[in-house]
Amino acid sequence: MSRSAHPAGPRHADVLPEGHYSAPPADLNQLDPKVWARTVSRDERGVVTVGGIAVDALAEEFGTPAYFLDETDFRARCRAWAEAFGKDADVFYAGKAFLSRAVVRWLEEEGLNLDVCSGGELSTALSAGMPAERIAFHGNNKSEGEIRRAVEAGVGRIVLDSFQEIVRVAHVAQSLGKRQRVQIRVTVGVEAHTHEFIATAHEDQKFGIALAGGQAAEAVRRALKLDGLELIGIHSHIGSQIFDMAGFEVSARRVVQLLAEVRDEHGVELPEIDLGGGLGIAYTSEDDPREPHEIAKALSEIVTRECEAAGLRTPRISVEPGRAIVGPTAFTLYRVGTVKPLEGLRTYVSVDGGMSDNIRTALYDAEYSVSLVSRTSEAEPMLSRVVGKHCESGDIVVRDAFLPSDLAPGDLIAVPATGAYCRSMASNYNHALRPPVVAVRDGEARVIVRRETEEDLLRLDVG
Ligand SMILES: *Cc1c(COP(=O)(O)O)cnc(C)c1O
Repeated sequence: MSRSAHPAGPRHADVLPEGHYSAPPADLNQLDPKVWARTVSRDERGVVTVGGIAVDALAEEFGTPAYFLDETDFRARCRAWAEAFGKDADVFYAGKAFLSRAVVRWLEEEGLNLDVCSGGELSTALSAGMPAERIAFHGNNKSEGEIRRAVEAGVGRIVLDSFQEIVRVAHVAQSLGKRQRVQIRVTVGVEAHTHEFIATAHEDQKFGIALAGGQAAEAVRRALKLDGLELIGIHSHIGSQIFDMAGFEVSARRVVQLLAEVRDEHGVELPEIDLGGGLGIAYTSEDDPREPHEIAKALSEIVTRECEAAGLRTPRISVEPGRAIVGPTAFTLYRVGTVKPLEGLRTYVSVDGGMSDNIRTALYDAEYSVSLVSRTSEAEPMLSRVVGKHCESGDIVVRDAFLPSDLAPGDLIAVPATGAYCRSMASNYNHALRPPVVAVRDGEARVIVRRETEEDLLRLDVG
């Protein structure tokens, strides 16, 4: 199909349909460094490159759709977080955002700790050589088998999420002749997302033990009595894609208040608090995330101030960024299959992946950016919706974005900031083969998670 084979799509000069977008950018060829991985740029041909390798060569070698992860950027972000929090705090990478053995090794080398929340994540971490004492194990319903493996391995902490689990972990530890370091996850009545947070006195969610009604204080009382447990602190996690620190302020205040109550009742000053993850990244040019050093400064000031007010020694702080580390480091590369302009509405651009490799748009109404990456174009911007190839009309990757109006089948387009919660939430819907993750660094590309094959699918289907 030639570039001019389809009729003209809607232009930005037209009256634009309802949607979540602003005016088209001045230059569609420009790559906003806020949303793209650090080493991404265009070569002299206008083709986008990452780690010094052009996407046309990457597509040729690894196929599409595929995730390309900028290892240099990933390592730089790990170091920035570790340096920002310094020696008196701990940074735990939240493995659920994206975990593979290569990632575990990078984290290990860059001095980060690791959060896991399932037996599968735990075995990935251990098999890649993460020292067990640098692993934290989370989750609201860990199985007895998972708890046993974690205690046996000697994980640095288990985050207790319920009254049943307090007893369960204590029992497993005792039966193994161990004393397990634990934190208690409390729900502080704060739910934060992007620029808003809601602070109530009550909790209506599956995670954690409520501060409200003295539940968390009772959990501490029980945990302190059990020989199998060494209670090292209190854990709280308030939301995701957070830009505003005000939610953390309320959450830290409430956690510190519990620490003061524990001191008053038991004469014990718990030495650690974990404020969770949830720090936001830029998915589009409109998002303005904070740098790790600003976040570290803000959190440490909040905790220090609250502790001074309560007459407590400042505990050791830990944080658990997942998205903020891996999210911006990867993009998904797709090949355009069909282009369908709808006059007065928008142009539907179908790619060779979809909700099986990025469920976030369908699930959370997430916003993404998209660019033509296999060439530049001087054509007018056209309001587009990037959709997948699945049998589902909600199969949308990018709801509203501008692409050049000469976009044609065969072009490569890329969606930046797909490092977090895309491959890790990928599915086999429609028996799609989950795409590979390719790490790129200094002119070298290496598959770290290979593409699934039809054989992989058939292997599970035992007839
Ligand atoms: C999901 C989660 C995180 C990481 O969240 P991000 O938004 O990726 O930073 C950290 N801690 C806990 C307990 C979580 O559930």
